[in-house]
Amino acid sequence: MKIDKLLEFDKKHIWHPYTSATNPIPSYLVKNAKGVYIKLQNGKRLIDGMSSWWAVIHGYNNLVLNKAVKKQLKKMSHVMFGGISHKPAIDLAEKLIKISPKNLKRVFFSDSGSVAVEIAMKMALQYWYAKQKTDKAKFVTIRKGYHGDTWHAMSVCDPDTGMHHIFQKQLPKQFFVDAPKCGFYDKWNDRDLIPIRKLFEQKHNEIAAFILEPIVQGTGGMRFYHPNFLKEISNLCKQYDILLILDEIATGFGRSGKLFACNHSNVMPDIMCLGKAITGGYMSFAATLCSNKIAKTISKSSPSVFMHGPTFMANPLACAVANSSIDLLLSYNWKKKVKKIEKQLKKELFELKSNKNIQDIRVLGAIGVIEMKEEVNMVEIQKEFVSKGVWIRPFGKLIYIMPPYIISKKQLTKLTGVMKQVVSK
Ligand SMILES: *Cc1c(COP(=O)(O)O)cnc(C)c1O
Repeated sequence: MKIDKLLEFDKKHIWHPYTSATNPIPSYLVKNAKGVYIKLQNGKRLIDGMSSWWAVIHGYNNLVLNKAVKKQLKKMSHVMFGGISHKPAIDLAEKLIKISPKNLKRVFFSDSGSVAVEIAMKMALQYWYAKQKTDKAKFVTIRKGYHGDTWHAMSVCDPDTGMHHIFQKQLPKQFFVDAPKCGFYDKWNDRDLIPIRKLFEQKHNEIAAFILEPIVQGTGGMRFYHPNFLKEISNLCKQYDILLILDEIATGFGRSGKLFACNHSNVMPDIMCLGKAITGGYMSFAATLCSNKIAKTISKSSPSVFMHGPTFMANPLACAVANSSIDLLLSYNWKKKVKKIEKQLKKELFELKSNKNIQDIRVLGAIGVIEMKEEVNMVEIQKEFVSKGVWIRPFGKLIYIMPPYIISKKQLTKLTGVMKQVVSK
């Protein structure tokens, strides 16, 4: 009864993501979460396959991260960042610079992934402004991408899934090229680059930056493309004096099998966005890293300031838990663990390859994707997953998992087993 009352209020007054306000997709009431388990208010325990949208890499209610938050809480939970600095932020910047591509030397903290993308795009525009090349003001991206829900971030999301038609008149118009067809495991061919080379030749004077998700296109389609594609994009950007922005918000911190997905291609972006798993999924936080070239160019022109400063910039609690999460990740052989998950996902999901309902099955790092031939009925399939004790949230034709790295072999088998049952019906 109490559960029903709460959910009734929720349905009546709270807007959930990507669903109708008046006829929403049903929500499940969660009581708590620990390790890989999400416990519902009705007592049911679900194995989590989503890491709460890529973020919770060490599992829920992690004792090490809890301790970091508590310790920082006793010092201060927040203090403004204008004219003030603090050790959690300094430690975190040092760590991020140490582990990210080596040309990235400046860190701009913000409060969410979308904002980190806005900041990256503003940096690119202000860089060209400083160089008195204000015509270089557009962005290029690949279709099927996702970069967040704020205004400029949305302008580089896939135009169809991002529903650009709704905002058509006001949304800045960017250049879109097709998503690469050459997959991660395919034999490399450079056909995907032909239209890009052509666009660069014709329009490089109007292009500020190329922005894309490295290797893994997440929410826009769960696709894995060839490392050479990214390498070639990086080369072309250099050749045509176009900045490269990599959105590592979903892929950062080991998810694809490398610490950052751009490590698959050994590229050095001018600007890189981090978010999601940066705090181990504890709270909303993000960072935009850039090279000294970007920072110095912006800073030596007039205005020399970078025009951004979120209220909760470098929030100490978030910095403290991010420091703890990165230390924890680097303290064990995460690479081996992610590789193990990858192997198991391949072994268990690829058994379905001949299934008539399935279009494609893809695995990279700790990400497993089943692409169906038809769109799935999300409400029905979600209900079935919950009744079978797992938390998996499909969208469109995609049923996919990216579990916390701490998942055991047995728990992962349960996830893939339920996926197999559900798609084979
Ligand atoms: C989730 C995501 C974002 C947006 O991050 P928010 O924290 O939701 O604003 C941007 N880019 C990518 C690649 C993402 O996966």
